[in-house]
Amino acid sequence: MAKKSFYRVYNFSAGPAAIPEAVLERVRDELLDWRGLGMSVMEINHRSADYLELNQHAEILLRQLLLIPEQYRVLFLPGGASVQFSVVPMNLLRGKTTADYLNTGIWSRQAIDEAAHYCRVNIATSNDESHFTTIPDPSSWHLNSDAAYVHYTDNETAGGVEFSWVPEVGDVPLVSDMSSNILSRPIEITRFGLIYATAQKNMGPAGLSVVIVREDLLGHALPATPTVYDYRTAALHHSIYNTPPTFSCYLIGLMFEWVQQQGGVRIMAECSARKAAKLYRCIDESGGFYKNSVEVMHRSRMNIPFSLPDQVLDASFVAKAAEAGLVNLRGHRLVGGIRASLYNAMPEEGVDALIAFMQDFQQRYG
Ligand SMILES: *Cc1c(COP(=O)(O)O)cnc(C)c1O
Repeated sequence: MAKKSFYRVYNFSAGPAAIPEAVLERVRDELLDWRGLGMSVMEINHRSADYLELNQHAEILLRQLLLIPEQYRVLFLPGGASVQFSVVPMNLLRGKTTADYLNTGIWSRQAIDEAAHYCRVNIATSNDESHFTTIPDPSSWHLNSDAAYVHYTDNETAGGVEFSWVPEVGDVPLVSDMSSNILSRPIEITRFGLIYATAQKNMGPAGLSVVIVREDLLGHALPATPTVYDYRTAALHHSIYNTPPTFSCYLIGLMFEWVQQQGGVRIMAECSARKAAKLYRCIDESGGFYKNSVEVMHRSRMNIPFSLPDQVLDASFVAKAAEAGLVNLRGHRLVGGIRASLYNAMPEEGVDALIAFMQDFQQRYG
């Protein structure tokens, strides 16, 4: 391999997260002159034919990657998942007054707190007693058949808890925050009323969310919903009601192309399973030096939190890892410890390098 002319680390950040080098190189190459227009993609008009094609192409790629059926609309909306925490109830209450939420960690909690401004939130289950290290068995959930929808967080980015199955909720529309694991495995779209994800974990740039919504759920937004965030309006205008975050939409499209070139979400799922299994094995075989307390069947493939015997060692681990080019391993500020995020853009060599570092660190300080 030719020697690189730039410095790149292995970036284990939970978000904004690593972007594949090939994508960044393409952005660099196209930055001053996109498609021979003599302008950057940032400088072109969002209603120009070229931009419309970019927008359409991104949607088509996502539809191909996730096999999204025709009766679902794909929206690219400004703002992260935290915006969708409000926009979902604004659009989906449909005259009802209550919604069910599964509370499995920090992100579910934030979604619940926002939804509570718009409706009565029924917390159908909560794992807070376990300090968010498990998912309570569905037989213990208290779902409400009159709920407007059931909301859950498919992967808890901070706690490292991931659903390995799709909850069964009968006829009530199922809504999922897939911010930190979208495009990491196939999704059975028809099981859902709506899926949303902020882009900066597994799809590239911050400041943009993807929403996949079943068509029959459109058209019921609360009167005070900002027009930009009325899903029906967004769908009618193909996400170009107002000026969209054009550069982020361009970048997300390049990410979709990259996933497709890797072989699609099935290959991403294989890679994710392999990378996560390796790292968990290293943790579990460390004789208790490294510890992950999530129940094994609910362990996340994407975000792997672990801790060392004390906080001094945690801090020293993070600092020494950074010196070795393994960066952003500090745990979530509310969780502490270490967290390694292994999104699609993290190559397996990065995980191997982390494991080698962990084994070496344990030998020196264990
Ligand atoms: C990061 C994240 C969010 C928040 O995304 P923002 O872009 O900061 O609004 C919400 N949910 C999950 C699961 C996340 O990982």
